[in-house]
Amino acid sequence: MEPVNRMRVEFTSLPANVAFARVAAAAFASQLDFTLNDLEEIKVAVSEAVTNAIVHGYENRSDGTVVMSVEIRKNHLEIVVEDSGKGIEDLEKALQPAYSTDPERMGLGFAFMQSFSDSLRVESSPNAGTRVTMTKACNRAISSRRDTEVPF
Ligand code: ATP
Ligand code: MG
Repeated sequence: MEPVNRMRVEFTSLPANVAFARVAAAAFASQLDFTLNDLEEIKVAVSEAVTNAIVHGYENRSDGTVVMSVEIRKNHLEIVVEDSGKGIEDLEKALQPAYSTDPERMGLGFAFMQSFSDSLRVESSPNAGTRVTMTKACNRAISSRRDTEVPF
């Protein structure tokens, strides 16, 4: 069996770390043969999850810790973003597109995470925190292998 390749970073709940997290996730993900478009989608999904942890989970306080782990499995990626913040009261509502508890926001973060990944799971408990798990398949391994089989 191949060894599991996994990374885990934890960082302070500061807005500047959104950019750090998205680049770190994409850099790790690029060990798989993702397209540039896939890598862009991974970056957006990570940004949305980490932004939510900071602005909603920790309500913009900078004394929180966000943990992100990324695991490469055969030909797909699993990304987990966790906070120990205030949690989501009504998860079903929160996942609906255009729903936000903040009137200034669009409520589209989860919709982006959903459409830019192959699976999205959200676990949350009020006053304990939120864990977002996303997976994304890398389909290029198959097509590039096929390319090399062309005999000229
Ligand atoms: P946008 O992402 O478009 O700026 P938004 O963050 O409100 O707006 P979503 O990302 O879809 O929209 O999240 C929906 C709602 O779920 C949020 O308004 C918030 O109430 C809740 N939520 C999301 N993530 C968390 C979290 N990590 N901790 C607590 N609440 C969260
Ligand atoms: Mg959001």
